[in-house]
Amino acid sequence: MDMLINGQWVATKETIPVIDPWDGSLVDTVPHGTPQHVDQAISAAVSAFRSWRFSPVAQRMEILRKVADTVAHYLEDFARLIAREGSKTIREARKEVRRCVNTLSLSAEEARRLYGQTIPFDSFPGGEHRHGYWYREPIGVIAAITPFNDPLNLVAHKLGPAIAGGNTVVLKPATVTPLSALKLAQAFQDAGLPAGVLNVVTGPGGEVGDPLVSDPRVRMVSFTGGVEAGLHITRLAGLKKIGMELGSNSPVIVMADCDFDRAVADTVSGAFWAAGQNCIGVQRVYVQRPIFERYLEAFVAKTKTYKVGPKLEENCDMGPVITEAEAKRIESWIREAEASGATVHCGGQRGGPIGTVVEPTVMTGVTMAMKLGCQEVFGPVVALWPFDELEEAVTLANSVDYGLHAAIFTRSLSAAHYAIKHLECGGVIINDSTDYRLDQMPFGGIKNSGLGREGVAFALLEMTEPKVVCFTE
Ligand code: NAP
Repeated sequence: MDMLINGQWVATKETIPVIDPWDGSLVDTVPHGTPQHVDQAISAAVSAFRSWRFSPVAQRMEILRKVADTVAHYLEDFARLIAREGSKTIREARKEVRRCVNTLSLSAEEARRLYGQTIPFDSFPGGEHRHGYWYREPIGVIAAITPFNDPLNLVAHKLGPAIAGGNTVVLKPATVTPLSALKLAQAFQDAGLPAGVLNVVTGPGGEVGDPLVSDPRVRMVSFTGGVEAGLHITRLAGLKKIGMELGSNSPVIVMADCDFDRAVADTVSGAFWAAGQNCIGVQRVYVQRPIFERYLEAFVAKTKTYKVGPKLEENCDMGPVITEAEAKRIESWIREAEASGATVHCGGQRGGPIGTVVEPTVMTGVTMAMKLGCQEVFGPVVALWPFDELEEAVTLANSVDYGLHAAIFTRSLSAAHYAIKHLECGGVIINDSTDYRLDQMPFGGIKNSGLGREGVAFALLEMTEPKVVCFTE
């Protein structure tokens, strides 16, 4: 597939292969974008902004609705593309497509709710003869940079609100999974989005990303990805707005009074969804001591039922991780923990046709000094610990540099309220795993998990700014 600049599909002599991480087969190729392409895309976005900023909201809504309809109509095609270029199984991919339809529909709806407010200027002496209000204006050109793990819906989370708010966009999708984003861009073009409002440049993070985020014509960088690239971008960006959706190693607290079967099922699913490559995936599980042994046994038994295999097979529960390099890194973290005294209860091995499969792995005895304890594994590995008192579990949950989602399973209202109040994170999920997300809720983290919030209405606020108007009689 080609990339989109100023309404034209652009090819390059040098291309980048997109490889299916299950078997290494070639899915497609995309252009190897250069800093010159970035410059052209930003120029197109600047020029398109001059008129798009004044486009009627009804026009933006109609385009967003049409794109949502197209994605819904071609659900299976989008799902197969997600499942081929990325790690997800076909069932996981279908869910992502349905969520993308919801994200785009929400964006169309929220466009009409971009309200302002009147201001009582006469609340301070001297303002008696003044009247006015504030309303929201688009920011301008937004650089949208997206990761590999949700290659369609996380793109929609940037394009939907940006376009609803009257902005123009230069999108740089993850190099390993650019195809779903390009197919979505095609749907926007087919829906009548004017040339230059959405541009997509494919190419490596540094080569394409650096000139994109450092360009002063770009007024906001909306980034989703790892903390390392996030920090690099904040240093480069200069004086512009920044939205950062970063990683985590999410904790789940399981109290002895919980619905046991539900806690096991939801936590296993939360740990191994998308082969653990999920920013809100379950990585640390703290289980109250009276039920710890039974919970561990049930958790391991449930994990052993997982069918890992070719992603397009309907009964496949988990696919490979995104590259062999990532699989080797995850494997090395398991070996490091084992060498320092941790125990692998199931999984722990790497395999698959091209070495990209990491078995669903359950561990105990992990310490906070080990990478698996304190960093984001972003793979199908989960660690369990026993605890005695809730206060202790909350302290352990908070003892990392991340804070995206945290969860607690309990039937006690006071335990839930204690957790809500004391867990340091952007969202607390009660009686489900950390990987629960509705696309309209505010989503984002604290500490190294990010800056600002997505979730359509919240992203729309981040991507617009107030302008005040004051009439004097
Ligand atoms: P990544 O390596 O940080 O890459 C994310 C994006 O940033 C890719 O498009 C990448 O391009 C680009 N990039 C890399 N270096 C750049 C630079 N110097 N300038 C501009 N862009 C640059 O992350 P990933 O491995 O794709 O995704 C996994 C991470 O994303 C995990 O940490 C996960 O937790 C996080 N994540 C967070 C959320 C959230 O909403 N909080 C959601 C999903 C994922 P290339 O592909 O070309 O390197």
